[in-house]
Amino acid sequence: MEKIQNDLPTLEVGGDNIVLFHPHIPKNAVKYVTDTLSTRWIGQGPKVEQFENEFSKKFCNGQTAVAVGSGTDALHLSYILSGLKPGDEIISPVFTCTATNIPFLYMGVKVVFADVDKNTLNISVDHVRELINERTKAIVCVHYAGLPCDMDELNSIAKKWNIPVIEDAAHALGASYKGIPIGAISDFTMFSFQAIKHITTGDGGMVSLNDQTLRAKAERIRWFGIDRTAKQEGHWDNDIKEVGYKYQMTDIAAALGLAGLEEFDNIIAYRRKLFSIYEKELQNIAGLTFIGGGFKDREHAAWLCTVVVERRVNLQKMLREHHIESNQVHYRNDRYSIFGRRRDNLPNMDTVEDKYLILPLHTKVREEEVYRICEIIKGGW
Ligand SMILES: *Cc1c(COP(=O)(O)O)cnc(C)c1O
Repeated sequence: MEKIQNDLPTLEVGGDNIVLFHPHIPKNAVKYVTDTLSTRWIGQGPKVEQFENEFSKKFCNGQTAVAVGSGTDALHLSYILSGLKPGDEIISPVFTCTATNIPFLYMGVKVVFADVDKNTLNISVDHVRELINERTKAIVCVHYAGLPCDMDELNSIAKKWNIPVIEDAAHALGASYKGIPIGAISDFTMFSFQAIKHITTGDGGMVSLNDQTLRAKAERIRWFGIDRTAKQEGHWDNDIKEVGYKYQMTDIAAALGLAGLEEFDNIIAYRRKLFSIYEKELQNIAGLTFIGGGFKDREHAAWLCTVVVERRVNLQKMLREHHIESNQVHYRNDRYSIFGRRRDNLPNMDTVEDKYLILPLHTKVREEEVYRICEIIKGGW
């Protein structure tokens, strides 16, 4: 396998360094976690339920939300709930976090990679149309960087084939598509609260379920297959009829999540402000295209700022000489041995593979730092 040539060691926080990612720890985080530590419940208890309810109201139009230990757990749980079996095929984006596709390997499900749309780096709807057939049992999409995918098109293809759409919305908390929040559109929508996502629980995840009747099963699968409510109420028949996992969220994590929810509106407003500065400043630069801007029918969640550039290695090195981190974040998944060989039907991915670069965008980056980064880029590389 080819080596990644242009990864540089991580910069320290401090001085005039601008790091690519930094967790956002809300003001009330320490208080809420400390309070939780003095209660009976530090594992899964009432705070998890409170976090689910508040999350559901804020992001899922009230449809039921199930909290788990990570975004990857949330994806695996969604894939189980969607009824996938060993030998089934699904269509999934090639350009995403490995978390999107690794759970299929747990399940013996065959991943058919779809190409990127070269303007957005989201899944190419045209390629999904080409790939789909009677063996396809689900469509997965990832709202890359926070820009919603073409949900009307994807859901109408899925409807035609009578299969579910599973949204990986790890980048897209707070995004919306034609006025509907991401979290209330498809059969399954997954969110992540990993350290550097919009809000964090250390690690954590959530699944929003379109079909509320799946909730009981989701709760069992998250806890070994045991009906925990019946057990606590003292009428559990003491049998386990389906294989579950240990995928629950803890109250310690939920306490962090609740503190995050309080600040979410400010977090996303700030991220969107930085994103729009990048977007405005990085226009009309030879050899550089800003990704994900200019849509009127969907709202970006501003998790990543991505540019597609010529001579990427040079730009990344030059930024680094100015103490600015940048890198690729995600890599095409078909480069990894576990997913088999490199596919040869992904021409758009082939084209952008050596060109995309992610720039710092988070709550610790100051507006003037974004202007500084843009000025440096405008000076040429
Ligand atoms: C962060 C992320 C996930 C989930 O990751 P966890 O670390 O398990 O919470 C899934 N998909 C994408 C695209 C991500 O960025």
